[in-house]
Amino acid sequence: MQRVELVKNELSFSRMVQGYWRLTDWNMHAQDIVRFVEQGLELGITTTDHADVYGAFTQEALFGQALKLAPGLRDKIEVVSKCGILFPCDKQPDVRVVHYNNDTDYIVAAAERSLKELAVEYLDVLLIHRPDPLMDADAVAEAFVRLRAAGKVKHFGVSNFSASKFALLQSRLDFPLVTNQLEISAVHTDYLFDGNLDFLQQHSVKPMAWSCLGGGGVFHDFQYKALRDCAGAIAEESGASLDQILMVFVLSIPGQIMPIIGSGNIDRVRTQAASLSISLTRQQWFSLLEAARGYKVP
Ligand code: NAP
Repeated sequence: MQRVELVKNELSFSRMVQGYWRLTDWNMHAQDIVRFVEQGLELGITTTDHADVYGAFTQEALFGQALKLAPGLRDKIEVVSKCGILFPCDKQPDVRVVHYNNDTDYIVAAAERSLKELAVEYLDVLLIHRPDPLMDADAVAEAFVRLRAAGKVKHFGVSNFSASKFALLQSRLDFPLVTNQLEISAVHTDYLFDGNLDFLQQHSVKPMAWSCLGGGGVFHDFQYKALRDCAGAIAEESGASLDQILMVFVLSIPGQIMPIIGSGNIDRVRTQAASLSISLTRQQWFSLLEAARGYKVP
């Protein structure tokens, strides 16, 4: 498995990351999660992606049960989590409306809660999950500085940020934001054309990519039929599978994008990890873009 260096000599991720958004749907007990993480490690997947909000604020505790059962796993993985989204659910009885909170005290408290739930002493990376329109960059920076000084979080990044919001927050920090986790796939190509990926490449910031398979929709949704047909034909001529072709679409974009695998099925994880040994010709890549967007490039 390739590795991507995010901070020289300090932080690297496996090129393919395992996402745990859907963990609470996988019907796994702690022992099953331990096995799943170990099987990922056998493939070289060391980086795990979490968020406080996943599973309506229950996913981190479930993963934490696995780490308590097999404490030796902690040192073999990178733990990434996110904070800042709130929505009405059992664990948040006072929340009446979906909103974001990027205030200093909220971020610090959320990160401390993640440490407790995940049963880890530190997070390798904490991301601000979504840009809060009320975000005060100085307030976020203060939270990061406090968490870093306390040894609770080693590195920081953002998710779903525009280039300008990334630059704004970076301007208040004397250490680098290590990633911007973005929705990047054949069905979501906006960041290729709005300058965001250019900005990250310019500053050598390695993006993480979420929902590379359209959240699973590419396999059945009517709206993706043309893309499915195109990717299926390329898969057949390449001796690959549909999910691999869609993963390679993302991997082909310059900038060392790290796709986050969303499947809880280890056979599918293996297949997707093997995408790293497949390549697309330029014409195949543009055929996928055309099929996904429904019009030819000008
Ligand atoms: P995805 O790969 O686009 O979708 C995963 C879904 O596709 C799962 O339900 C999976 O089901 C299904 N799937 C995979 N292969 C399939 C196949 N061959 N046939 C049929 N169905 C298939 O990824 P995602 O889960 O949406 O996102 C990946 C990760 O990104 C998440 O876990 C999370 O860590 C992160 N994320 C971040 C944000 C953010 O705002 N930063 C937002 C969303 C997600 P099975 O499990 O049954 O295989």
